[in-house]
Amino acid sequence: MTREQQEQEAEVHRPLPRIAITPHKVRVLITEGKGLEIDWEDGHRSAWSFALLRDACPCATCVDERKKEGRSIGESKPKSADLLPMYKPPARPASAQAVGRYAIQFVWLDGHSGGIYSWEYLRRNCQCSECKLVALESAGGIQ
Ligand SMILES: [Zn+2]
Ligand SMILES: [Zn+2]
Repeated sequence: MTREQQEQEAEVHRPLPRIAITPHKVRVLITEGKGLEIDWEDGHRSAWSFALLRDACPCATCVDERKKEGRSIGESKPKSADLLPMYKPPARPASAQAVGRYAIQFVWLDGHSGGIYSWEYLRRNCQCSECKLVALESAGGIQ
């Protein structure tokens, strides 16, 4: 296990208050192709592009694939050098639906649909600079 993986594990086990993982408002901007935006009950706002969400798919297959390739959540696949470069449009969902009260699921245009993105998972992987900084700081010491 690398230090980075240990840090990610530590981050995963840090408990979050309920209001931090309860969405107040969820916007899925499919038509605009923009991504997912969530306003949380604690006043925080998160936004993810669809491409990032696709690369952060939490299904077992994608988690395995990322582990094997040493990619972190949301990190895209390295472009392979020995293939002719082909234009690959950024990932977009065909549709999105709520899963109970705890998660959201996407049906991607590439046919993939196994990943269930829990609110907690999304909040823990918030991409805003504030959260990334906190993640860095908490990885640096407190355990
Ligand atoms: Zn997946
Ligand atoms: Zn954030």
